[in-house]
Amino acid sequence: MDKLYLVIPCYNEEEVLGETAKRLKEKMTALIARGAVSEHSRIVFVNDGSRDRTWPMIEELNAADPIFGGVNLARNRGHQNALLAGLMTVKEYADVVISLDADLQDDIGAIDEFVEKYREGCDIVYGVRKAREKDTFFKRTTAEGFYKLMRLMGADLVYNHADYRLMSRRALEGLAEFGETNLFLRGIVPLIGYPSSTVEYERNERFAGESKYPLKKMLAFALQGITSFSIKPIRMITSLGFLLFAVSLVMLLYFLTVHVNGRTVPGWTTIAISVWAIGGLQLLAIGVIGEYIGKTYLETKSRPKFIVERAIGINAQQSANAGTAGRIPADIGRSAAK
Ligand code: UDP
Ligand code: MG
Repeated sequence: MDKLYLVIPCYNEEEVLGETAKRLKEKMTALIARGAVSEHSRIVFVNDGSRDRTWPMIEELNAADPIFGGVNLARNRGHQNALLAGLMTVKEYADVVISLDADLQDDIGAIDEFVEKYREGCDIVYGVRKAREKDTFFKRTTAEGFYKLMRLMGADLVYNHADYRLMSRRALEGLAEFGETNLFLRGIVPLIGYPSSTVEYERNERFAGESKYPLKKMLAFALQGITSFSIKPIRMITSLGFLLFAVSLVMLLYFLTVHVNGRTVPGWTTIAISVWAIGGLQLLAIGVIGEYIGKTYLETKSRPKFIVERAIGINAQQSANAGTAGRIPADIGRSAAK
């Protein structure tokens, strides 16, 4: 039976932690009871440098019931980093992991479907929100605008998917290969590959406490998403440079005609030409330099160029494992971990 680990980043969540732990435990017990996951499954809270009683509470939970685990970060590093810390910590022990928020805004009823999809062979299952009618108008429009903007800027996100998702162990191992510091999980996970699926769920309001994602953090997050994923903004500068330069050539003809016909004051032609041509050239030059910076930037991420899903018939010793249909490496990984 596969071990399911739930990973929950928490930042100043003392108001919700008790209730969240209770509800998740109920969910987990039910899953174990009907034989969907192993009895050695865990609920792991990641404390992201909270300033309240979050960590002591996690310790108490763990002392009272070994189903609860905890990871304590040295300081606050933000939701994405806290989540990654949790995922990378449990990766050695779990067969499959589901990440979710401490406030249980994401309907935990969907967990059954996540597990179902995993057992059908999916390595990644994305939780996708059904509707946003429970969000304020402001949050809804900004969030939807965000997905559209991201797509326009070249990062292919799963629409209306936040960080509520299931990942198998090998998907986590794939994730571990990404060497970048500016982490934007939502953009990276689809790059891993492997069979994936989506599950729709209803998103509720926070049942207690307040959002740790004020507008300022949301904007920073969007900017981070765009700049850590694409060099499209640079491309736009290059295109603009090209366009302006082309326009300047047309203008050149116009200026010269005016000049030849003598319908102008002395000096005007030179200045007019300089403004247009030099302006266009400068923008173009900046764009070209930007292209190189963009390349360097992408290189420094040292992302994996590929992740091999399966290789067969490579090694004579392993021939017993090879050639059989199915998801061989993952299955080996899972049974070895039992
Ligand atoms: N979170 C975190 N570190 C932070 C901010 C938030 O670990 O610096 C966690 C928080 O505890 C919660 C999740 O990230 O579990 C999502 O935060 P929140 O619910 O406040 O965001 P919202 O749902 O309003 O977008
Ligand atoms: Mg929330």
